[in-house]
Amino acid sequence: MESCSAVERELDRVIAKFTDIREDSENVISDVTNLFDSLKDTLTDDEASSQISENQVTILNEAFAKMREKLHRITTEHREIHGTVSKVGKVIDRNFVSDFQATARSDALVEDRNMQMLNKLVAEHYIRQGMDDVAEALIREAEIRTEFSPKVREQSQQFAEVYHIWECITNHNLSPALEWSAKYSEELDAKNSPLEFKLHRLAFIQILSLGVGAQSEAITYARTNFGKFVNRYEKEIQNLMGSLIYLPTGIHNSPYKHLMSPELWTEAAYIFLKDCCNVLGISKDSPLSVVVNAGCTALPALLNLKQVMQSRQVLGIWSGRDELPIEIDLDPDHRYHSVFACPILRQQTSEDNPPMKLSCGHVISRDALNKLSNGLLLKCPYCPIEQSPEDAKYIYF
Ligand SMILES: [Zn+2]
Repeated sequence: MESCSAVERELDRVIAKFTDIREDSENVISDVTNLFDSLKDTLTDDEASSQISENQVTILNEAFAKMREKLHRITTEHREIHGTVSKVGKVIDRNFVSDFQATARSDALVEDRNMQMLNKLVAEHYIRQGMDDVAEALIREAEIRTEFSPKVREQSQQFAEVYHIWECITNHNLSPALEWSAKYSEELDAKNSPLEFKLHRLAFIQILSLGVGAQSEAITYARTNFGKFVNRYEKEIQNLMGSLIYLPTGIHNSPYKHLMSPELWTEAAYIFLKDCCNVLGISKDSPLSVVVNAGCTALPALLNLKQVMQSRQVLGIWSGRDELPIEIDLDPDHRYHSVFACPILRQQTSEDNPPMKLSCGHVISRDALNKLSNGLLLKCPYCPIEQSPEDAKYIYF
């Protein structure tokens, strides 16, 4: 974030400079044009003589000198702006790392099987975006041999439809989404989804934005569609009806101007994608976008780690392991498995160091168990019960 602000500051500086120079150049140019206009007037005043008098030559020379000087100033300023613009590039280079070599596992893609898997993920992503032709071309050109399972195909195509409706919402076309939500109304209600109401609210607002002529249309729409939401969204509906008072003077300048905010559209589109996928039982993110998003979240932490450990002995920590050298906290959207962190070693358990349930019921990791056990005896660190470490049971998540 700090890096972004640093670049933003530099950009502000460039924009300020641009504005200054533009104003200045406009003034200079209009000065010069005025000067030449008046000069032309003076010269044409004296049309009788075809000769230019000495006096006029002096005036002309002075005017040219003045113009040259002003032109020179504009050129200098223009050159300066180049300097300021190229400085932005330098600030970007200084604040952002462009070398991800150290965090990459290029060896992972050497194996043909892994490369196939990656290409398949990309193809699946295209199918989900409704770009079947691109996906087919990739499958052909990358020689993807493994077939997509019918389930993946079906879900991807289902998602492509969802994605199309989502695109319609973002283009302010509500009809396909309204149609969809009416079809799945019961399922949405069961999941307590606000989607249907939010879509009808936007449709109502769309009518409002037509102006005062659409008043009766808006009222009819409300009567037909808001009835079933009265109990759940009483306040919101009152709010919508209240806005009608300001229809003649324009809702944009009224206390109801929040109804015209583009954020309502972004919110509805997001809720549609989330709840629609939830109802259909498909993921709203393709496996590829999950990997990319999780990777982008983890990248800053990994880059920091690389800076700290840039000595030869520790660079090997990146290769040959299936897990990252540090634990990175991803947002809840990207947590899929139950995880167990050993309360003694304060480490997440893994296949090599699995969670073990002691006979008293407390759970610790196997490494902790080995460290704590004294021969054939183990004293639980949480309750004083003594037991045999051999009675501990492996827990599978
Ligand atoms: Zn215990």
